[in-house]
Amino acid sequence: MFNLILFGPPGSGKGTQAAKITEKYNLHHISTGDLFRCELKNESELGKAVKRYLDKGELVPDHITIKMLNKKIQSFENPNGFLLDGFPRNKAQADALGELFKELGTDVDLLLALDVGEEEIVKRILNRAKTSGRSDDMDENIIRSRYQIYKEFTQNVFDYYKKLNKAKKVDGVGEIDVVFNRLCCAIDEHKDK
Ligand code: ADP
Repeated sequence: MFNLILFGPPGSGKGTQAAKITEKYNLHHISTGDLFRCELKNESELGKAVKRYLDKGELVPDHITIKMLNKKIQSFENPNGFLLDGFPRNKAQADALGELFKELGTDVDLLLALDVGEEEIVKRILNRAKTSGRSDDMDENIIRSRYQIYKEFTQNVFDYYKKLNKAKKVDGVGEIDVVFNRLCCAIDEHKDK
C-alpha cells in the first residue's frame, strides 16, 4: 500500500491535485471536507451535528472526525492505498491515523504540503465561491479565520511527519499541471528511495 497525505491551507489546491494524483497512482481519495458536505446535503444525523462547525469554518470535534475517517478507510477491501485530503488536521488526528494504519498493517508514506500564502488563498477561495456554493467560501472573514486555524492548529502536523522524515513542501503557486508535475516528482523521488 502507498498512503499519501496531501496537506496545505484551505484553497491551496488539494482537491484539484488529489483528483489527478489518485488517478495516476491508483489511490482512493478521501477528503474529510467532502465527506462532511455529503452528510450535510443528505441531512443525516452526522450532517446535522457538524453543520455549525462547517458554517463557521471551525474544526469539527476530533471524536466525530476520527470515527468517520476510520469507518471510511475500513470500508475498502484490499485497497492499493489512500490519498488523505483535509486529514489529519491536528496532532490528535495524526496519532489516531497512526493507530488505525498500524491495525491495518500499513503506515503513512509521505506528506506533501502545498505552499501558498494567505493573500493568494483569499483570492482563490473568493473566486471558488462563485461556483462552489460553499457558504464558508463566500465570507472573507471566515476564509481568514480558516487560514488562522490552519496556522495555529494544523500546520504543526507538518513538523510531526517531518521529524519522521516523511514530509516535503511543494510550491503550490503556478498552473495546475505545473504544480501537478512538482507533486509527481516528489512522489516518484520518495518511491525510488
Ligand atoms: P478547506 O480545506 O477549504 O477549509 P475542507 O473541505 O477540507 O475545506 O473542510 C471544510 C470544513 O470541514 C472545515 O472548515 C471543517 O469544519 C471541516 N473539516 C474537514 N476536515 C476536518 C478535520 N480533519 N477535522 C476537523 N474538521 C474538519
